[in-house]
Amino acid sequence: MLPVIALVGRPNVGKSTLFNQFTRSRDALVADFSGLTRDRKYGEANLLGRKCMIVDTGGLSGEDEGIDSVMASQSLAAIDEADLVLFVVDCRAGLTSTDQMIANHLRKQSKKVLVVANKIDGNNHDVVVAPFYELALGELHPTTATHGRGVRSLMQAILDVLPEPVEADDDDIDSLKIAVVGRPNVGKSTLVNRMLGEDRVVVYDMPGTTRDSIYIHYQRNEKNYTIIDTAGVRRRKNISLAVEKFSIVKTLQAISDANVVILLMDAQEGIVEQDLHLLGQVIEAGRGVVLALNKWDGLDSEHKDYIKNELLRRLQFVDFADMHFISALHGTNVGHLYESVEKAYSSATDKLSTNQLTRILEDAVSVHQPPLVNGRRIKLRYAHAGGHNPPIIVIHGNQTDSVPSHYRRYLEKTFRRVLDLHGTPVRIEFKTTD
Ligand code: GDP
Ligand code: GDP
Repeated sequence: MLPVIALVGRPNVGKSTLFNQFTRSRDALVADFSGLTRDRKYGEANLLGRKCMIVDTGGLSGEDEGIDSVMASQSLAAIDEADLVLFVVDCRAGLTSTDQMIANHLRKQSKKVLVVANKIDGNNHDVVVAPFYELALGELHPTTATHGRGVRSLMQAILDVLPEPVEADDDDIDSLKIAVVGRPNVGKSTLVNRMLGEDRVVVYDMPGTTRDSIYIHYQRNEKNYTIIDTAGVRRRKNISLAVEKFSIVKTLQAISDANVVILLMDAQEGIVEQDLHLLGQVIEAGRGVVLALNKWDGLDSEHKDYIKNELLRRLQFVDFADMHFISALHGTNVGHLYESVEKAYSSATDKLSTNQLTRILEDAVSVHQPPLVNGRRIKLRYAHAGGHNPPIIVIHGNQTDSVPSHYRRYLEKTFRRVLDLHGTPVRIEFKTTD
């Protein structure tokens, strides 16, 4: 489970600048769900080797609004979900009453808080940070976010207070992990209940906060599965159900932890931008993916045709994923999801031998040669597996930096077709070995 760090503070103090500093590594996963939950951005950060999720809360309200509106803000949900809060203040603006209000709120929480004194710029640290000791939230961490100054020691300070990574206690169970994700109300709870059927299940409440998903272990046809339930259907009765049911943090963590993701959408509403955002996250994370269009019941045939066409048009980029038209409510087609999940999982994890991959590469190259670059032909010599779930195919050759994207796509398609890889993204990586 990735620890979650929330950036809070007034608008314009430098939260997004810090966010960018934290997530600037090339493989940072950044999701912008501004349509879904107002003004919040999510990114994966690598803090001196430890992966974390960073949430930029967009900003607690301005100066003249009262404490109630500060409290009512979306940012509070982010604080609630976080393992650690970075409270950012602006040294150029000095201490403000809103800072005081935020501090009052934070002091009442049992959260770990680090105060980041940003916009030090050329000034004397001790002088410009001094007023902020009044916040009574401990030590101050000086930064100049625009220049990345102080960011490294801030990272170290974060690492010092984050809880040690804990191994999930179910790691020894060898099971296929399926995450069921989707927007609120698309039918996740209904589907999870359907998928579990009457099977005996063991529910693990993961330690931690209310944001955590529930891991449900069960067997089906003598195979072990774990459903990562982001909707929280089987939450124990004594745990408050008042918590917001939908959480992006929870969804992103579930995706990151799953082998295969079932992305659930609502046929009666059609595909919306947020579905595509979520799908993008699944692909980015390299997870196996099965698409399910729920609430297929109660649609007339004209409507069904329209939706199918719409899907073909908008989901071309995932033509490798199975699509099911289901009714979680009535159970229609739900069983078929398992076939696609199994297929995606085996595609994502099958062992690929160097011989086999190299042979496919050679055939692909002889059918369709790579282009010339500066009068020299790109040579691709051999291929081997570089990882699974997602499968990574590493291709060695010369001038590989110049392989055009259409040729990369051609190779990916060829590997996919010959190896019958279905329901999983495939990554092609090039290595130059001149
Ligand atoms: P947010 O609203 O809290 O996310 O703030 P932003 O990150 O968008 O920053 C607001 C403005 O402050 C931008 O113009 C930034 O370039 C600027 N800024 C951020 N960090 C620093 C800093 O360390 N020094 C100075 N002088 N400006 C900064
Ligand atoms: P969640 O927020 O994604 O967990 O969604 P729920 O499972 O709570 O379902 C939201 C609403 O959609 C509920 O009223 C369900 O009864 C309804 N629903 C779920 N699946 C179906 C379906 O296949 N067909 C129809 N017509 N309604 C459904």
